[in-house]
Amino acid sequence: TDSAGWSKERIQQADRDYVIHSWSTQGAVNALPIAGGSGSWFWDYDGNRYLDFQSQLVNLNLGHQHPALVAEIQRAAARQCYIGPGFADEARAHLAETLARLAPGELTMSFFTTGGAAANENAIRLARHATGRHKIIARYRSYHGATAGALSLTGDPRRWGGESAAMPGVVRMLDPYTYRCPAGHPDPCPVCTGRPHLEELLRYENPETVAAVIVETVTGTNGIIYPPDGYLHALREVCDEHGILLIFDEVMAGFGRTGEWFACQHWDVVPDILTTAKGLNSGYVPLGAMIVSRDLGTWLRDHRFPGGLTYAGHPLACASGVAALRIMAEEGVIDNAREQGRLMDKRLRELAERHPSIGDIRGRGLFYGLELVRDRTTRDPLVGFHASGADAAPMSEVTTAAMRRGLYLSANNNVLRLTPPLVVTAEEIETAMAILDEVLTLADAHTAP
Ligand code: PLP
Repeated sequence: TDSAGWSKERIQQADRDYVIHSWSTQGAVNALPIAGGSGSWFWDYDGNRYLDFQSQLVNLNLGHQHPALVAEIQRAAARQCYIGPGFADEARAHLAETLARLAPGELTMSFFTTGGAAANENAIRLARHATGRHKIIARYRSYHGATAGALSLTGDPRRWGGESAAMPGVVRMLDPYTYRCPAGHPDPCPVCTGRPHLEELLRYENPETVAAVIVETVTGTNGIIYPPDGYLHALREVCDEHGILLIFDEVMAGFGRTGEWFACQHWDVVPDILTTAKGLNSGYVPLGAMIVSRDLGTWLRDHRFPGGLTYAGHPLACASGVAALRIMAEEGVIDNAREQGRLMDKRLRELAERHPSIGDIRGRGLFYGLELVRDRTTRDPLVGFHASGADAAPMSEVTTAAMRRGLYLSANNNVLRLTPPLVVTAEEIETAMAILDEVLTLADAHTAP
């Protein structure tokens, strides 16, 4: 029971009757009540324990209920829960200063939000305001959040159905998805090298109407897709040539997930605006941020910032951010992500020798995607794009069987995502890989003989 003493059944009933769940037909929701969690594990009211290989929504980078982070949030709550954004606040100032120090290049000033979508909303608003241009180029394999502007940037099918509310001015770019390249990946590929495809779009759109290009540095939800070397450099160069701002959405990929503080550090490319949330404070209190370049910061010294939120720089959220980043540094969490990532990589490659359904393994740090196929040669996907119901069964069978064995996994289309907390241990990786070894046989059953 929790502190209110509700039974599992009482929670389930109230949840069914009164809670609207994300992206769901409410009558089909049957949410499992969760009683608690610690580190890489959480458990239900019947004593079943689950190894969290999703880190919930890829946000609990420090795992469940990290004691030092919980204690710091308790101290911060006792000190001051809230003061309006118009005042200077120690936690807010401290977090902004910390981000200026941690972030690459000259990313200097931060606007704090309640999450990733709001960070992206403010990023595009600022980009439009600062450039005086209105178009934003975004990609298909992307998720940028569920508010009107962020959902319009999103290429994921979740944007469908809301077109009438879509923000005008979004131009869609193809993805550097080398395993399934939309241009057939001739070498050098016009899409995967970045420059030719973007230049082609700009020719038709008129670069002087384009405020920004926004990309997830590493695509998360839509398949854990890493850009080839040189791709982000090319985007940076083309943007610079035309006075277009480059925005990296690192809401999922940031804060140690890929084995660096920021994913863009793998390629040494610095955007004009970097958006973040999730791992910024491991999700213990809602928080996001938009971090802007020194140039944009200088511009804002004598231009109005056109945005605001009641909870912009919420002191409790910011204090949790300061604490989370300190804990990550003190406890060598990113080193652990790299080390456990190497172990996971090795084990996944061993699994690929036994399981013909493994088509591609993509990852760095603890940000891995396992692309499942019916045939390695043709790369025929295990389930089609945006499959649902019975068509999605070959994937859902795998995740359901894993959950039954105590491994919480997520999938999008035909890609299994492996994103455990960055505090995961070698033993936990081995446990997860052993369960994966068992459940992948279900996917293998659908492969070509
Ligand atoms: N951007 C990316 C890359 C994300 O993965 C997400 C959430 O999954 C968002 C933005 C939206 O963040 P939020 O749900 O906090 O609004």
